[in-house]
Amino acid sequence: MFNQSRRNLARWFTLSMGSILVLFAGVIYQIEAKDKREALDRLLLDKTRIMAASVHYDVRQNQTAVDLTNVPLLGSGSHPLAEDLIYVRWYNAQGRLVRFFGAAPANQLNTSPGYQTIQPADPLLQHRWLRQITLPVEGRTGTLGYLQVATPLTETHNQLQELQIALTLAVPIALGLIGLAGWLLSGIAMQPIRQSYQQLQRFTADASHELRSPLSAILTNAQVGLMLASDDSRFQPSLENIVDSAKSMGSLVNNLLLLARHQGKLAPESFKLLTLNQFLAEIVPQFRVLAEAQDIQLEYEQPEQAIKVWADPDLLRQVIENLLSNACKYTSTGGSVRLRLVPHPGWAVIQVIDTGIGIPEVDLPYIFDRFYRVDTARSLDSGGSGLGLAIAQQIVQAHSGHLHVKSVIGQGSTFQVELPLKLPS
Ligand code: ADP
Repeated sequence: MFNQSRRNLARWFTLSMGSILVLFAGVIYQIEAKDKREALDRLLLDKTRIMAASVHYDVRQNQTAVDLTNVPLLGSGSHPLAEDLIYVRWYNAQGRLVRFFGAAPANQLNTSPGYQTIQPADPLLQHRWLRQITLPVEGRTGTLGYLQVATPLTETHNQLQELQIALTLAVPIALGLIGLAGWLLSGIAMQPIRQSYQQLQRFTADASHELRSPLSAILTNAQVGLMLASDDSRFQPSLENIVDSAKSMGSLVNNLLLLARHQGKLAPESFKLLTLNQFLAEIVPQFRVLAEAQDIQLEYEQPEQAIKVWADPDLLRQVIENLLSNACKYTSTGGSVRLRLVPHPGWAVIQVIDTGIGIPEVDLPYIFDRFYRVDTARSLDSGGSGLGLAIAQQIVQAHSGHLHVKSVIGQGSTFQVELPLKLPS
């Protein structure tokens, strides 16, 4: 129970911290990508503006022109302006191409001013991603033309890819460390809960133990009183009442003691190798009398092969008795109760199937809780205290097994005990 809570705490801690970490890594990546794009855009704009300053009116050609003669392109590297530029294009005010360097452009300007990220189909550009700026150049008389300049995004993409790889490696490592920290922290957090739970268990065990002696004294005295007052009808009902109450209190105290004592795993010496076929066959007869009294058909089915498990015989008997007693209690006259031993690889499966009143679906998750009763009326009728299934589940879990239930209201219930064939470690 504590280990499961600790695992849950560690899991939730890792999940929440992990989500924050992944979100944080995503934000860092986005900020870095935005910074790089902005830096590239600024550089591109600066270079384009310097080129725009060389725009002049070419009298011979009777049109505006830009002086690009000294702007070598990508690869030549000799001109600081042209470093990393893929092409430079000059369009006149009407958007018609006047001059260009680099990849051959369209004759007419087909993009609006501003930045674009493009991947031109031109095979000369090897399908590279480019960042392109189209800058309108203004003169005294209005727009003189448009300068279009592009630079490759390869460098920026490479840098971002490196950051992505670094984050992809760092995030799982950080997640692992967070998981470890979560496990250690949840261990520390569980410590006081574990201690107070142990104190509570010890108190329950001690209190139940101490209550047993006065209870048996009350029972014995009441029984003696009953014998002595056998001919006095005035005392008989009260004394019978005391006997019944003392008996039911005795069984409640025994159950509480059982729950308090067998919390967690069992001591290795309490495990015995049991042949379940025979073990179950010995339990059935005591319920046959009860079943016959209620006109319920009780059957026991077992396979031909012997199924052996390591178990504490007294505790396992308690489980089967609780389940069979419930099955008989909650099955009405004419119904049937079946005890089945089913072979299964690695496990022994014991089923208690009844055709009784069934359990409402809403109650199924709670019926293994201590003192939980589906409806008080029907349990009180049958003298139940709501501890039988809690005890059965605790014992089965102490054997490293599982206890499941399936039930349909009005049709019946199936309780299934699964025990490992191997000695629990
Ligand atoms: P109780 O002592 O009240 O029977 P249990 O812990 O054994 O307590 O069972 C818890 C509740 O589950 C019971 O109050 C009963 O309503 C329901 N229950 C248990 N077994 C069956 C069954 N075979 N059929 C129908 N209801 C059942």
